[in-house]
Amino acid sequence: MYELENVLRPYAWGSTTAIAGLLGRPASGGPEAELWIGAHPDSPSVALSPAGKRAASGSGGAHAAVPDDGGRLALDELIDRDPEHYLGAESVAAFGPRLPFLLKVLAAESPLSLQVHPTPDQARAGFAREEAAGVDRSATERNYKDAFHKPEMIFALTPFEALCGFRPAAESRAVFQLLAADFALAGLELPPLVPQLLEDLAQPDGHNALRTAFERLIAGGTDVSEATAAIVAALVSGAPTAPYQAELSTVVTLHHAYPGDPGVLISLLLNRISLAPGEAVYLPAGNVHAYLHGLGIEVMASSDNVLRGGLTPKFVDVPELLKTVEFEAVAVPMLSPETTMLGQELFRPPFREFQLQRIVLAPGAEPVPLAQSGAAAILVVSGSVLLDSPKGDLQLGHGASAFLPAAEAPVNVHAVSGATGTALAFAVTTALKD
Ligand SMILES: [Zn+2]
Repeated sequence: MYELENVLRPYAWGSTTAIAGLLGRPASGGPEAELWIGAHPDSPSVALSPAGKRAASGSGGAHAAVPDDGGRLALDELIDRDPEHYLGAESVAAFGPRLPFLLKVLAAESPLSLQVHPTPDQARAGFAREEAAGVDRSATERNYKDAFHKPEMIFALTPFEALCGFRPAAESRAVFQLLAADFALAGLELPPLVPQLLEDLAQPDGHNALRTAFERLIAGGTDVSEATAAIVAALVSGAPTAPYQAELSTVVTLHHAYPGDPGVLISLLLNRISLAPGEAVYLPAGNVHAYLHGLGIEVMASSDNVLRGGLTPKFVDVPELLKTVEFEAVAVPMLSPETTMLGQELFRPPFREFQLQRIVLAPGAEPVPLAQSGAAAILVVSGSVLLDSPKGDLQLGHGASAFLPAAEAPVNVHAVSGATGTALAFAVTTALKD
């Protein structure tokens, strides 16, 4: 088992305090958006052997170049040395010689871009196409960073606000009807975009209704930006919003962050969700979503393939986006945990690359078997735990994380003797076995 040093991504939307607070360490002073725990080649964790751990004590943060000495090695390089040992034969057969999942701590202070992730076939084909065309992998117009899909899930540690998947067209139409009534009541001229959207959304075929409304908005242009500004001006000056307060206050917030961006009104086509701490949602390919605010544990297939659909100053490839969006109204894909032995919770989304175990250990509690098929990763967000495998022990304090090779299973997670507080940890492994 290897303790890990992980890379912090300082995206501008990140909270400056939430990740440091969760992990019990000093804040960097800048935004701390995502902590990546895994072997994605863009930001691999560093695996520390006992010697490397001593050398690193007191240091922290990201390391671009990792020397292959002193007991420190990038996790992807470690796995490359013996994939079957670290990942297990079954995982290598299913996903190839790479860690199939990525665990993140995500802290959104302001909204992330509206986005969609591709299916496995779309990712493979898109990556091959851009490679063949010689598009630089770091180019702004590059869509596919790797050849893999990126289904994901988010577990809320704090109240967590998000947009997730299309609502039924009739529900979105009702919001635009309310806005039309607000303009009439105030004697304001209705932007022509609104009656056009009402017509789009009235189509009896729900797929067509969502598709035409989405296409009209994502096309952008002055019609969209002027209508957005007029709607926000009406809302700010007190237009009635009931019963769509949450949706319409989100419109105002998004417009302030990204004035006139197509994503501002696209938000009204999507489910507006508020997760309570302990709740989780999963996001399959084709689901249009955006995280708005909150701290969570995010797990995904190890990929960085994102097609953006707005709420971003970054490149938006509309034709490619339209190929990947699923224009179907969906119920919010909430993920209920299975309660396993000793009261532990296991979140199993319908993807084979990952499952998430929430491990709670009160002082003196019985040890908990780690759910593990193939490799696993664990992060301690409260208290301390002792990992006990047939090959040895590893104690992890508050904020520490570790990589657990397949060959070192089974692992039991113990409360640390003498601990006074409850320990809380999150562990990820593949979902190859039932
Ligand atoms: Zn996403």
